[in-house]
Amino acid sequence: MLKDPACLFCKIVAREIPSTAIFEDGEFYVFPDIHPKAPVHLLIIPKDHVMASVADMQDGQEEILGAMLHRAKLLAEQQGIADQGYRLVFNVRHYGGQIVDHIHLHLLGGQPLGPLG
Ligand code: 5GP
Ligand code: ZN
Repeated sequence: MLKDPACLFCKIVAREIPSTAIFEDGEFYVFPDIHPKAPVHLLIIPKDHVMASVADMQDGQEEILGAMLHRAKLLAEQQGIADQGYRLVFNVRHYGGQIVDHIHLHLLGGQPLGPLG
């Protein structure tokens, strides 16, 4: 399924819900998290509803994850947070704290983030 009409992030990609575009190409859309947990908190999402989470990845979808990480690396440089470092997070399903079931990568930085937990 490439679009899920009930999916919040599909609606954001379709501009049915407003967001600020930080980056967009044919494959990915990047926008700020509405509840930022750090001075820089971006969400990197495939424009298509290709999988709900890492746990739902199918054989052959490995390149999508690699491309998301590569996009995060480039965005961190663009945002000026690469030298000091940053955090990349995939929340996975209920216990992982995932709320939106459209795969997304959190890019957090701009301050020391400390240990997890
Ligand atoms: P998850 O917990 O699923 O990994 O992350 C989903 C993220 O989406 C949360 O950090 C939440 O703050 C963010 N979010 C939820 N609704 C909206 C929205 O309407 N706009 C934006 N920009 N972010 C949202
Ligand atoms: Zn979706």
